[in-house]
Amino acid sequence: MASTQCVVVLFLITFTSTAFSRSILETSPKTHHSFTSNPIFIRRKIPKDGNAFYCESWRLSVETDNAGSWTQIPASCLDFVEEYATGDHYSSDLEVFAENALEFAKEVNVSSIHGKDAWVFDIDETLLSNVGYYEFYGFGYYDVDALNEWVESAVDPALPASLELYKELQNMGFKLILLTGRSESLRNATEKNLLQAGYSNWETLILRGPSDTDKTATVFKSEKRRELEHHGFKIHGNCGDQWSDLRGFAVATRSFKLPNPMYYAP
Ligand SMILES: [Mg+2]
Repeated sequence: MASTQCVVVLFLITFTSTAFSRSILETSPKTHHSFTSNPIFIRRKIPKDGNAFYCESWRLSVETDNAGSWTQIPASCLDFVEEYATGDHYSSDLEVFAENALEFAKEVNVSSIHGKDAWVFDIDETLLSNVGYYEFYGFGYYDVDALNEWVESAVDPALPASLELYKELQNMGFKLILLTGRSESLRNATEKNLLQAGYSNWETLILRGPSDTDKTATVFKSEKRRELEHHGFKIHGNCGDQWSDLRGFAVATRSFKLPNPMYYAP
């Protein structure tokens, strides 16, 4: 008797869903027309020069890494990048990033691995902001000596959304691992800056040692994540503004990319 009822129910579900789908198609003769006539679906050749959307499209291409390796902000987009990095759009993007990361963190059973639940953070443009350097020297300007001097001065502020996320994760019991491409020679300045910006009680701060100098960030950071795993850490989350912070091997369960149209690090 029960099996007969199941067959009847299954028939009704199949019949009604098929009929419903067909009714939508048959009673909406304008559907096909509206799709094909919508300007979005008509192939448009948009000129690169003088295109109001070009810089936004370029930014999307670098954030998704469709652009791959790049060394310079297009000259026509320097003002756009400055406006983005010093304005509300950047702040809004960072807030959404932090919300996404926190939503995932809440799904993790932090007490499950006896104090070895880890979360990795990059530092520059992830915890600390170097926008002041670019405001001073000009967006698009990169000089390793000038940047090191800037970092030595330890004046970078925290990215507010990141600081909030950092504290939330800490309260949830995650061990916070700071993994940066900065040189070991910048350890004191980095620690001083982090503390002044409001960060504290990280599990460990990993910088590039002498043997890491020639490695790409992807290799260096992957090797360090693997070492963490060998020490028993489970890396649940990883936050970085560069794809090289996030990909490679020994990757986190979830990786969270912060925006950065200011520079690219391989
Ligand atoms: Mg960074």
